[in-house]
Amino acid sequence: MGRYLDPVCKLCRREQIKLYLKGERCFGTKCPIERDALPPGMHGARRGKQSEYGLRLRHKQRLKRFYGVLEAQFRRYFKIASRSVGNTGEQLLSIMERRLDNVVHRLGFAISRRAARQMIVHGHILLNGRKCDIPSILLKPGDVVKVRPREISLKLAREGLQKTGQYGLRVPDFLELTGTADEPEGRMIRLPTRQDVDERIADRIDEQLIIEIVTR
Ligand code: SF4
Repeated sequence: MGRYLDPVCKLCRREQIKLYLKGERCFGTKCPIERDALPPGMHGARRGKQSEYGLRLRHKQRLKRFYGVLEAQFRRYFKIASRSVGNTGEQLLSIMERRLDNVVHRLGFAISRRAARQMIVHGHILLNGRKCDIPSILLKPGDVVKVRPREISLKLAREGLQKTGQYGLRVPDFLELTGTADEPEGRMIRLPTRQDVDERIADRIDEQLIIEIVTR
């Protein structure tokens, strides 16, 4: 599975919004977006009027980048969403929220999705009692996410909980934090809906525009 390895702040500068990819730095004054950084590239400052295509492309890229999903995976999710009952755009957002790395982050065990992804890949997370090192796995209601009961894993999760609390990130309604501070654990109560989408991106994406560019 491919990974994006270039500087991540460039992605935020391209989208001209905060994508919260770096952790604590994203909440401070060192964030380039806080300093009105220009889009990347030699002509970043001189780009002309955005085309209709460009507008749709930006919404799609924004969604993918916020959740850390590359194009091939995104297309797979879109296929699943379009085959599901209900609005394709809302189903797509629900799928993004159901990813294990997103759930670990939104439960507060990690300060960012990237940090959550690393925790999972390094074997710090148990899904329904078994070690799971696949960040893209989609959770279903009733699934239990637990931090592996060993000191190094618990330390990471405690730090994550402390930081997410400090920056005011709250657990969304479709998840429930059930464990204790010593044994952090969470559960998916129901499938996420449009209202459950991370509030930091919810108003910045128009799923209808994403459908239009993917199906054109
Ligand atoms: Fe960099 Fe985070 Fe700011 Fe994005 S939000 S530009 S990743 S510091």
